[in-house]
Amino acid sequence: MNDIGNSPSARDIESIIHPYTNLDVHRTKGPMIIDRGKGVMVWDDEGNEYIEGMAGLWCASFGFGEEALIDAAVEQMRKLPFYHQFGHKSSMPSIELAEKLLAIAPKGMSKVFFANSGSEANDSQVKLQWYVNNALGRPEKKKILSRIKGYHGVTIASASLTGLPANHAEFDLPIANIGHVDMAYPYRGMEPGETEEEYSTRLAELLEQRILEEGPETVAAFIAEPVCGAGGVLVPPAGYFPKIQAVLKKYDIMMIADEVICGFGRTGNMWGCETYDIEPDSVSCAKQLSSAYLPISGVMVNDRIHDAMIEQSKKIGTFAHGFTYSAHPVCAAVAVRTLELMEERRILEHVREVMPVMQRRLRKLGDHPLVGDVRGVGLVGAVELVADKATKRAFDPKKMVGANCSEFAVRHGLITRAMTDSLGFCPPLVITEAEINEMFDRFEKALDDTE
Ligand code: PLP
Repeated sequence: MNDIGNSPSARDIESIIHPYTNLDVHRTKGPMIIDRGKGVMVWDDEGNEYIEGMAGLWCASFGFGEEALIDAAVEQMRKLPFYHQFGHKSSMPSIELAEKLLAIAPKGMSKVFFANSGSEANDSQVKLQWYVNNALGRPEKKKILSRIKGYHGVTIASASLTGLPANHAEFDLPIANIGHVDMAYPYRGMEPGETEEEYSTRLAELLEQRILEEGPETVAAFIAEPVCGAGGVLVPPAGYFPKIQAVLKKYDIMMIADEVICGFGRTGNMWGCETYDIEPDSVSCAKQLSSAYLPISGVMVNDRIHDAMIEQSKKIGTFAHGFTYSAHPVCAAVAVRTLELMEERRILEHVREVMPVMQRRLRKLGDHPLVGDVRGVGLVGAVELVADKATKRAFDPKKMVGANCSEFAVRHGLITRAMTDSLGFCPPLVITEAEINEMFDRFEKALDDTE
């Protein structure tokens, strides 16, 4: 047997392929091992404390160590640790979760299909679009338009929807029938003198042009995050989604809202769809659905989609899609408890109370010489670091300025996320005003250290 060394770091390097990590750098740098967490804080294996400014990966809405969620998992684990949903089977947690979810869902959602991750939800969205358009007798209507910089996951179809080059180039993606249009990115996309409304109109016109080039009869759906998260927290300009949806409606193209980050209070409303006037035909949700304590995701659809699925079953029988762990009872029980806690603890009210503090502190960072843009809504935001504020010139990517800044943040006791040279903030929704201030105090020190 090889001598793999005794330290946890050496054992990690020896044995694990890390997601979204430079695997070569990892061999010398090693992991940051997070050992425990409480509230918005986590501690590494050497006892250093950090504010988790990203709620993990935009997901641990109730922070760490929430006993009510732990109890829900333990109780369900004892009662029925697993059951599935294939062939007419069900379990009570899944029924309760479906009812709770649909009761708070964006308008028009009438049924839910459960999966385990955001990627699986969006993969299911793609398959549903293909399936449903076959059912509707228009098999040529199959293309799905997504946005450059949008993030929808990493499975084959969801990575194809994702509009980031690293997710495509060496993986031989995207697959056929998926195309990308411009992102709404006011800082870099707006022309001099253009208002937000005018920019939105221009983006909607560009979308229409693209639909006409593709042939409207071939375009099935458009997918977007209400606020683009992993692409750099890109908040849509005024009027964007209503103008986009007017174009979609004109050509009978469905709107898929990817609420994997925005869902469950992040933008100050239950859904990003409410904050940005989106009327979706279907919705993906995950992450905060269970406060990330266990993996579960959902695809909610309207009657039009569901009716077409019923018609397919009348014709061909079984709906041949689903996962072993669709609506896993323990995950579903934790998600039910998460939704209950949102109500019991008035999380939406809390978010609305503290979000002005978050946005004020974020905006203040705009005075720093390195910060070109500040953007955010509710309890999510980002700063974009630039080499030249006046010209908006970006840093040379090789300098890794964003990554360096997040390293300095770690030294000051803050975990944030570098997305190229944008640094993201997406703390647990339960964060207090004092903790928000502490988070930005720590980040300001990191910014001062960054060159
Ligand atoms: N959609 C959005 C908007 C996301 O932010 C993510 C993950 O960050 C995904 C989908 C993919 O989710 P998962 O990593 O659970 O597959």
